[in-house]
Amino acid sequence: MLPSLGCHAHRFACVYRAGKSVTFDADSTILKYMNILVIGGAGYIGSHVARELLDRGHRVTVFDNLSSGLRENLFQEAAFVHGDMIRYEQLVQSMNGMDGAVYLAAFKAVGESMVKPEKYSVNNIVGAVNLLNAASETGLKYIIFSSSAAVYGEPAYLPIDEKHPTNPENYYGFTKLEIEKFLSWYDRLRGIRCASLRYFNAAGYDVKGRIKGLEQNPANLIPIIMETACGTRGGLQIFGGDYDTPDGTCIRDYIHVSDLAAAHALALDYISANGKSITVNLGSEKGSSVREVLETARRVTGKPIPAAVSDRRPGDPAKLTASAALARELLGWEAKHSGLETLIKTSWDAYNQA
Ligand code: UDP
Repeated sequence: MLPSLGCHAHRFACVYRAGKSVTFDADSTILKYMNILVIGGAGYIGSHVARELLDRGHRVTVFDNLSSGLRENLFQEAAFVHGDMIRYEQLVQSMNGMDGAVYLAAFKAVGESMVKPEKYSVNNIVGAVNLLNAASETGLKYIIFSSSAAVYGEPAYLPIDEKHPTNPENYYGFTKLEIEKFLSWYDRLRGIRCASLRYFNAAGYDVKGRIKGLEQNPANLIPIIMETACGTRGGLQIFGGDYDTPDGTCIRDYIHVSDLAAAHALALDYISANGKSITVNLGSEKGSSVREVLETARRVTGKPIPAAVSDRRPGDPAKLTASAALARELLGWEAKHSGLETLIKTSWDAYNQA
């Protein structure tokens, strides 16, 4: 019997191996629908990626230790393994039969990484080494890795393209850069193809409103503004009002999580079709200041959102914006939902309903 997902018989030929289906494009040997392990798939970005892969017909298994991921972010159509990638055997077991993995299960609080490097070494770096060794052992072919603009450090020029020197200023960014290097060696030595996606500032919620789980103890600007709008936080601290920017507050490139999710699926298509690894920036190419974000949020939510300027946060560059030209060229990707209004509106829809 044909599985309900993945086999559109008029366009694709299905081959069955060891009880599971593998679907090829009728005109080529490209795997169109794959078995994908989404590691960290119950988290904020991971749940959006899992949703996107399911929407495109892939068979998804979410692997998550639920340390920050949420059960309410799981989808019925996806299998779920409550597992921890620090436990190598558990990972190997879950990777058997997978074509690819998306690796999102990492700690991401920049400030915390500077005071608890050990935690970031184990979870981020040991986790990545386990993933790569398990990929070698199980024959997994493709990895999509959530990297970060934090690999660049203080910008030498703007917008930042992928040729910009990498000089992370925090331990979190260091872990991401080191993992990129591991991936590139395993590409060379083991033929595992990888896409390292360097996210700028991920924000927003599913444009169709399907993701309900809110991040616990968020440290990023937009969720903090949302919690303030909801009244669960007293106010926003604006970290520095004397930067060399038009309104004195820092400028960042906010990219909608639905746009990010689409890029993961496109990157999987690209590395499988072309048999080569890539490293690309994902940003909207637009800069918004903290004050602009705040004013938009006040307008969209209709809430006063108290805010006061405090000291600068150490290590914050005044301005960061991406060049996403390479993602456009290689993946045909474009940020479609990353206007400030949409970023705030979709976030408010999620927070307001919770
Ligand atoms: N920011 C702020 N108050 C906060 C959190 C963040 O003013 O409570 C500012 C921060 O200084 C930066 C921008 O908002 O300029 C985005 O910060 P976030 O931590 O969301 O992401 P980052 O740019 O550090 O990756």
